[in-house]
Parts: sequence; C-alpha cells; structure tokens
Amino acid sequence: MITDYIYQLLGQSLLTLIIIILILIITALFLGKYLIKKDIVIFPRFIMVVIDLFYSPIKKLCRIFNIDDTIVDEIGVNIRNKINYPKFINIPANKTLIFLPHCLRHRDCESQLQKDGLICSECGKCAIGIIKKKAELLDYKLYIVPGSSFVKNIVKKTDFEAVIGIACYEDLNQIMMSLSKFYPQGAVLNKTGCFETKVDIKSVLKIINSKVVNNKDDD
Ligand code: SF4
Repeated sequence: MITDYIYQLLGQSLLTLIIIILILIITALFLGKYLIKKDIVIFPRFIMVVIDLFYSPIKKLCRIFNIDDTIVDEIGVNIRNKINYPKFINIPANKTLIFLPHCLRHRDCESQLQKDGLICSECGKCAIGIIKKKAELLDYKLYIVPGSSFVKNIVKKTDFEAVIGIACYEDLNQIMMSLSKFYPQGAVLNKTGCFETKVDIKSVLKIINSKVVNNKDDD
C-alpha cells in the first residue's frame, strides 16, 4: 500500500514538473517572440534561462509540432544582443574580436586559409573586404573562420573582452551562448548556406560603429 502511494506521488510530481516546464517554455517563447516584434525588453533573464536550460528539448518539441525551430535561436540572438549591448559598447574595439564566416567569400576569392582563418586581401569582391577595412581601421581584431574549431583556438590564445559574431541564427546563438561572458553582439546572415552567403553590411557596421558613437557621446 505504501509503495503504491509512493509511486502515485512520484507520478503526480513528475507530471506536475513536466506541466510547469512546458508552461515556462511556452511563456518564454511567446514572450520572446512578442518582445522581438515590439523591440522591447521585459524579463530577458527569465527568457534566456529557460531557453538555455531547455535548448535541445525546445528544439525537439518545435520539430514534433512542425514549428520552425529557428524561433529558439532567433529569440536567443535578439535577447542576447539587447542584454549585452550596454556592457559591449563600453569595451574598447582593440579588446573586441569579430568572427566572420568564410562562406561569405566570393566564388573567385583567391585568399588562402591559414591557421587563424582566411587572410583577406580586401579585393572588394565580397562583404568581408568592406567589413574588414572598416573594422581594422577602428582597431578591432577580425577573423574569417571556416568553423567553430577555429573560433575555439583563437579564443584560447587571444586576450579580449568582447566579441561580435556573424552567422546563421543557429550557429550565432550557439557562439553567443558559449562566449556569453564576453558580451557578444551578433548579426545574422540574410542568405545562409555553405557558399556565397550574404549579410547586411549596414547591420554589421552598425554594431562596429556603436562603440565609436558611444565614445563620442562620452566626450
Ligand atoms: S574581399 Fe577578401 S574574402 Fe572577399 S573575395 Fe576579396 S579577398 Fe576574398
């Protein structure tokens, strides 16, 4: 009898826990999506804790219910951008890394891949050259990388305090998650894939210039 009672209690507790988690997930997703639409920030920490804690199960649930699971990364990137922005703009450009994906390069790009990524000669054929020119003028450290293993190596051996990433929603959210203590800011590719992807250069330059604008405001 006591055993039955314990099993019943455990079953009920588990069911209650699952229902609470589901309510938290649904609330975080709806709130996150609503905030992006309205461009406001309410309870960002709550949303991020829920999304980070249940990242894989939420993605699986989305797939089960035929919902585009990019929503999870879209919310993650947008909320992180907003939360991190005030700290990010106060860190000097020379302490900030920029990671660009090498898939942005033009099909006729002649640059060679080296141990820290692609060495761009700023030939002007793709967005990388334009972004690199502007970023290095302001003292940022910019890397054009083929994958996350390059990011990990560079992060390990470089002294930096902030980071800017450019990638598709999923990769960007994961980079921002793993480098969360460096106040990451991210810009999303508007054409994804493995080859000749595209990014809105203005949105990347806006992030790059945000430190300059902030420093001028301080003067
Ligand atoms: S701008 Fe740089 S990355 Fe782009 S095609 Fe030219 S050399 Fe390659």
